[in-house]
Amino acid sequence: MASRVCLVHYHEIGLKGNNRARFERILMDNIKAALAAFSVATITRISGHILVTFSVSGEAERAFPLIAKVPGVARVSLAFHTNREPGEYCAAAIKALEEFGEFNSFKVVARRSNTDYELTSMDLNKQVGEVLCNAFPDKKVLMKGCDAQVHVLVVQGSVYVYARSERGVGGLPQGSAGKVVTLLSSGIDSPVATWLLARRGAVPVPVHFSGRPQTADTSEYLCQDIIQALAPCVQVGRLYVIPFGDCQREISIACPSDLRVIMYRRVMYAVAERIAQLEGAKALVTGESLGQVASQTLENIMAVNEVVDIPVFRPLIGSDKQEIIARAEQIGTYDISTQTAPDCCTLFMPRRPETHAKLDEVHAAWEMFDHEAMIQQLVDAAEYIDFSAPTYKPPRCMRERHDELEIRYQRKSAEGKLRSLF
Ligand code: ATP
Ligand code: MG
Repeated sequence: MASRVCLVHYHEIGLKGNNRARFERILMDNIKAALAAFSVATITRISGHILVTFSVSGEAERAFPLIAKVPGVARVSLAFHTNREPGEYCAAAIKALEEFGEFNSFKVVARRSNTDYELTSMDLNKQVGEVLCNAFPDKKVLMKGCDAQVHVLVVQGSVYVYARSERGVGGLPQGSAGKVVTLLSSGIDSPVATWLLARRGAVPVPVHFSGRPQTADTSEYLCQDIIQALAPCVQVGRLYVIPFGDCQREISIACPSDLRVIMYRRVMYAVAERIAQLEGAKALVTGESLGQVASQTLENIMAVNEVVDIPVFRPLIGSDKQEIIARAEQIGTYDISTQTAPDCCTLFMPRRPETHAKLDEVHAAWEMFDHEAMIQQLVDAAEYIDFSAPTYKPPRCMRERHDELEIRYQRKSAEGKLRSLF
C-alpha cells in the first residue's frame, strides 16, 4: 500500500557549493519548525530532494501547501511512496493523475537515482505511460506543453510517484544569512519588506514605534498579529516596541512643523541602529517605496539615512502599491494591515510636511532638541515580546544570567505587559 509523503525541491541552495550541506540542514530544521503542529515522522535527504514523512494519514495532504511557503522551497510535490513492484507504482501513477485535477494531455517523467534497478528511465517511462494510456484512454500523451506530468522517481528500494506539485516561495532558508532589524509599522509595506528579507535567508528582528502613551497600543497588537500571520513558515522570534508618543510631542513642540516627520524618522532610524548593535544585526530594513508618500522622496530619504552608519535596505523602493498589496495578500498580512490603528505615523502630523528637505534646515532642526538624550531614553525604554522561532537567537548579553535584568523582566511580565529591555 502506498503511503503519502511530501517531496521538497530546492534550487538555489544547490548552487552554494561547500555551503550546500549547511543550507540543507537549515532548510530541514525550518520545515520541521513550520510543521510543528503535524505528526512528522522523518525529514531526510534523498537524491537532491528533502523527503517529509508523516505518522498520521491525511497529514501529507494538509502539510503540502504549508511547506510551499517556507523560504528556500522552490517546489513541493505530494507523492505516493511505494516499493519497486511495478503493480504498486503503476497503481500509484493512476491515483496521482486522478488527483491532479483537470487535464487533457500528460507525460511521464521517470528518473532513477541508482543504476541497480533493472529498468532504465526510458523503460519506466514506457511502462508507466502504457498503464496510464489504458487508464485514461481519452487523454493525449504530449511531450511538450502537456497539462500534467507524472513523475516517477526510483531511489534505492523506494519509488516516489507524483503529479500534484506546487511552486514554493523560493529564496534561501531563513537563518542562512544574518540578522536584520526591520522597522515594522502595522501598515501594508513594512510586513512585505520583512517577508522579502526573510525569504533571502535573513532573520528579521522587527522594531515597532508605538504612539503610546499619547495613543492606544492597538498598533502593537497589530504588529503581533502580523508576526503570527507570517508564522509558522516565516519565523520572527522577537518584536521590540518603543513607546514614542511623548518624544514625538517634544519634537513637535521644538521643531518647525514641516520638518517634524523627518525628525521622527531620524530618531527612529537611530534607535533601530542601536537595537541592531545589541542584536548583532548587520542592516536595517524599511518598507519605503520611492515617492509613495511625502516622506519618501529622494531628498527626504537622504535626510533620514544620514543619521545611521549601518546599511538600510528598502526592498520595495521600486515597487508599485498594487504589487505590494498583491504580495501582502499572498503572505496573509493585508487584512491585518488595513485595520486602522493610531501609531506614531498618525500622531502630531504636520498639515504640510516637507517633501524636499534641505539638509541645512534639517541639521538646524536636529539641534533644536537633545536628540542624543532622546535616542538613549528611547533605547532604555525599549520593550520586547518573544515568539516561538528556532532561527532567532537572542543577543548574548541577554542570554547570560544577570540578576538585575532578571528581576526587571519578572516585574514587567508579572504585569502581563511586554518585557522591559534594560
Ligand atoms: P508602511 O505601510 O510600512 O507603514 P508607509 O507607506 O505607511 O509604510 P511610511 O509611513 O512613510 O510609509 O513609513 C515608511 C517606513 O518607515 C515603513 O515602511 C516602515 O519601515 C517605517 N515605519 C513607519 N512607521 C513606523 C513605525 N510606527 N514603527 C516602525 N517603523 C515604521
Ligand atoms: Mg505607515
